[in-house]
Amino acid sequence: MKIYNSSTHKKEDFQPIKEGKVRMYVCGPTVYDNIHIGNARTFISFDVIRRWLIASGYEVTFAQNLTDVDDKIINRANEQGRTAEEVATEFSDKFIAVMHKANVMDPDVRPRATKEIGPMIGMIKTLIEQGHAYAADNGDVYFAVRSDPAYGEVSGRKIDDLMVGARIEENEDKNDPLDFALWKAAKPGEPMWNSPWGKGRPGWHTECAAMVHRYLGTPIDIHGGGSDLAFPHHENECAQATCAWHEGFANTWMHTGMLLVDGEKMSKSLGNFFTLEEVLEKHSAAALRLLMLQTHYRSPLDFSWERLEGAENSLARIAGTVQNLRWAVSHAEGEPDAELAAKLDAAVDAAKAEFEAQMNDDFNTAGAVAAYFQLVTEANTYLDQAGSAVDTDVVAGAAASIAGAFAVLGIELPEPEEELPVGLLGVAAGLCAYTGDDVNEAAERILAARAEARAAKNWDVADAIRDQLRDMGLMIEDTAAGSRIKHVK
Ligand SMILES: [Zn+2]
Repeated sequence: MKIYNSSTHKKEDFQPIKEGKVRMYVCGPTVYDNIHIGNARTFISFDVIRRWLIASGYEVTFAQNLTDVDDKIINRANEQGRTAEEVATEFSDKFIAVMHKANVMDPDVRPRATKEIGPMIGMIKTLIEQGHAYAADNGDVYFAVRSDPAYGEVSGRKIDDLMVGARIEENEDKNDPLDFALWKAAKPGEPMWNSPWGKGRPGWHTECAAMVHRYLGTPIDIHGGGSDLAFPHHENECAQATCAWHEGFANTWMHTGMLLVDGEKMSKSLGNFFTLEEVLEKHSAAALRLLMLQTHYRSPLDFSWERLEGAENSLARIAGTVQNLRWAVSHAEGEPDAELAAKLDAAVDAAKAEFEAQMNDDFNTAGAVAAYFQLVTEANTYLDQAGSAVDTDVVAGAAASIAGAFAVLGIELPEPEEELPVGLLGVAAGLCAYTGDDVNEAAERILAARAEARAAKNWDVADAIRDQLRDMGLMIEDTAAGSRIKHVK
């Protein structure tokens, strides 16, 4: 498996530190608002990466924090006349709920910053003892960036270039403008904790470094986040951890590309800003995931409602094919053509091999999905050509392979509803004097009644059957292998 390491700018052979085990950390949200679809892209990308590592046989431990104390939370609380804790609790709960809706797996560990103050203070003390940090007169504690010779390696920046670009802040407490806060002295009305440097709260970069060390142990295999986090957040996390514990921090850094809406940067002022929640109110998580995974995680992703609608249609087509394959298996009749079956069987093997190769090439989900789109086309061709004389083993294998591949990506194909509505029995009774209570038998009878009407060119009856079904949200689908009743999407 090859993974692009954004700190070396190379695709590298992935070698976990401990054989068969992967420890990974992805920075979680600052919980002051609903997450937008740009954030969602990062979380869905790493969910797929994690799922593929698990599917490849690794034992994965995945940690993700909740930043539940931060300036943004405090500002939001002040605007709304609430406490910071109330705001953080509300949006932590909403984040977890919307992640579930998006079919993102829960992390194995989800530490919250406010519950990890002790370990953070411990790390800051260690940094001060080793000369990498200092307490300022105002009660802040800063990390001395120039004390870390490796500073800049995560994001590929040089300290001298940073100086040119650095906004020189009006902050006389810092020894150097590049230094960043590990601990912030308390201001009135803010959440605060006791520390050796007086009351205050931790800096954002500090929490991830301390949590990675506490819950996963350093160094870890994979550290990820959105590309906007590479600098300064990840650079600063890494500087603290490596200077405190001298063990390295993360072997592979992974960063997701940005999300655009209709080709433009998403922003509230442009009116093209969408939360994950509102997108999932209109569309399925499976369609959103399919749309996202059709672009490689490092490339810019263009979101649009049209593309999402397109993904929804693709998904319906894939699910429809899987349903047709399964239906063909249960209604198979006649001697299958061996040559046709061998062709489909080879297409299944080819799709599986291509899917694996693409996923092992830096999680190229776009290529992996394309391999299965191809198989869906081949499976439909087979069904058309074979009619009801299908090779049940090969066809069942194709259906399982397609559904399985999308499941690995966290895309659950819509399942057909197994039973027809009870009301259909009435229609069946009216149409063909049927009085039993087995819905499948009722469906067979309705189809038989329609076939009979059509054979007799009795179009009024055939149309009446169709119309009554439509009123009930049902349709008759005619396939090469026969007709059946389906729910209208
Ligand atoms: Zn972080």
